[in-house]
Amino acid sequence: MRTHIRCGTLFTGLTDRADADQTIVIERDRITQVVPTAGAPRAAPDDKVIDHSKEFVLPGLIDIHVHLSYGNAQANEDIDIYGSTEFRALRALHAAQLVLKAGYTSIADPASTGYCTVGVRDAINAGMFQGPRITTSGRQLTGHQGLGDWYPDSIGVPDSSIGVLVRTPEEAIEEMRLQVKNRVDFIKVTVDGLHRNPATSELMASFNQEELDVIVKESHRLGRKVITHARGREAVLYSARAGVDIIFHAFEIDDECLDAIVKSGSILSPALTFLANTILFTRPSDPCYKWRPSMNRRDIEVACEGLIKARKAGVPFMVGTDSGFAITPYGEWHAKELEIMVDYLGFSPGESLRATTSVNAGLLREGKNVGRVAAGALADLTVVRADPLQDIKSLQQRENIAAVYLGGKEIAVDPPGKVTTYQWEHSFRQWNETYTRDRVAELAR
Ligand SMILES: [Zn+2]
Repeated sequence: MRTHIRCGTLFTGLTDRADADQTIVIERDRITQVVPTAGAPRAAPDDKVIDHSKEFVLPGLIDIHVHLSYGNAQANEDIDIYGSTEFRALRALHAAQLVLKAGYTSIADPASTGYCTVGVRDAINAGMFQGPRITTSGRQLTGHQGLGDWYPDSIGVPDSSIGVLVRTPEEAIEEMRLQVKNRVDFIKVTVDGLHRNPATSELMASFNQEELDVIVKESHRLGRKVITHARGREAVLYSARAGVDIIFHAFEIDDECLDAIVKSGSILSPALTFLANTILFTRPSDPCYKWRPSMNRRDIEVACEGLIKARKAGVPFMVGTDSGFAITPYGEWHAKELEIMVDYLGFSPGESLRATTSVNAGLLREGKNVGRVAAGALADLTVVRADPLQDIKSLQQRENIAAVYLGGKEIAVDPPGKVTTYQWEHSFRQWNETYTRDRVAELAR
């Protein structure tokens, strides 16, 4: 038995264009043919014909930056401390299902609590639960100047953290070998994120060039790609020179960085959705209101300049959103990064869609079996009641997602029920102010 899907418009993910009136033929979980409907094979009596002739069909969408174990975190303590690892793994499965319902059939998780996401990936792959295809790292390797080592020394980087402190190349090698034993798909390293050098006001890298070279070389020897968190110039430069596969953020790059990126063939993935949402949605009652939106506005302004140059230089981009925070909840904003790439970075809608399908697939376990509508590929499809080539924003409206297919099987896209959260699952801040007599008087004015 075969399934014939009639597509009004088909975007295969392999070019920036779409074609009208195409038919996809599916056998079991794979696509066997993609042909114009006029010349499509006749359906046999026991074949199934599905009519999407009024709709726009894309390869199942891919977000390579979804932190499944963060639980829509409101604070770093939520990410690292509250909620047991066991609870986090179950919550991560729920989060993964929310992302799938939004039309994202594959995701990558770059930094997870323990082996939560490895477990969720394996349970889904074993057929125990429905969920997207998952490619994941373990905990992210960090130094004292990297994201993850953000608590006082008396606490350090707890075992429950999404980061793991490696103080020497030897410790990094040991940690990577352990993670590979425990079957992570790639290695994530935070090369900066916290501290600026007072002499230069630049973000400081948490590893020097020699150390990062050792880490990347060992990861590649173990057959694992490396993703770095690198916002600052120094971290990006070291990452590119070390031959890192994918550089996240890359906000403060200069021409020297760009030359190194072009030479190394590293891919950039900025994740500007996190910044844009922070600017747009953070409210005066949120503790970070006073600093975060203005900082993120500056970050975006600086980032666009370098990222536009990189795009023009032919550097490939992958697409991710940094979902898993309170400002980027699961299943909500994955397609927004495409709008940002079009509006801020000068991508055409087709270019951004190709990036989030066939280009993003380059990181995944499934490789060329996903992110494209082509004979031999897995039958993962997202069907839309709009034309995202005309209006890239249309992918963000839940009502526009007409159907999602995973390996040829249709997934229910009904909005899931609300879940309750408990105080012990997350940190809390009891007051946003220090109520001195002066402050109380000020507030009364
Ligand atoms: Zn992230």
